Amino acid sequence: MGGDFHRVPLLEEETEIGEVAFVADVMLGRLTRWLRILGYDILYFHRAPDDFLIYVTLESGRILMTRDRRLAAEPILAPNKSFLVESTRLPQQLKEVLSRFPVRGRPRCADCNGLLVEVDRERVKDLVPDYVYLTSPHFWRCPSCGKVLWEGTHKRNMLHFLGFNPWRYGEGSSE
Ligand SMILES: [Zn+2]
Repeated sequence: MGGDFHRVPLLEEETEIGEVAFVADVMLGRLTRWLRILGYDILYFHRAPDDFLIYVTLESGRILMTRDRRLAAEPILAPNKSFLVESTRLPQQLKEVLSRFPVRGRPRCADCNGLLVEVDRERVKDLVPDYVYLTSPHFWRCPSCGKVLWEGTHKRNMLHFLGFNPWRYGEGSSE
């Protein structure tokens, strides 16, 4: 059993009002990371039996996001409390979620779901490589795991990989 089980934030204090929050099944690890960066609040457990996912979903009032058709149709969950991700391809999966839940919050940590906080460049000078410090105008820090993030080439690589801009998806003129 992973340590995840012992630190389940059943009620996330940091979920912003009006924000939709999710629990993702184990098959959606990659999608979870991308969606967190886009500002989605998602609990993810590396190992979690269906019963546990259902329990967390019910207790937290979140929506269960799953690739498992049977789990999505679980009768104990209200119809609007589960969301079936149909595609196996990441870009298409992202589009499915962005189309159905266009509401986005502040960016979150891909690793731990913490709400990222923008920090002054000077404060991270000793924490990042010199070239990053010199070339990146904005830095964020995850208050939960301490990770420092910056906007760099990885964003360009992301856009190239996806073939669309997830930050602008659904705005009409974006694709
Ligand atoms: Zn984090």
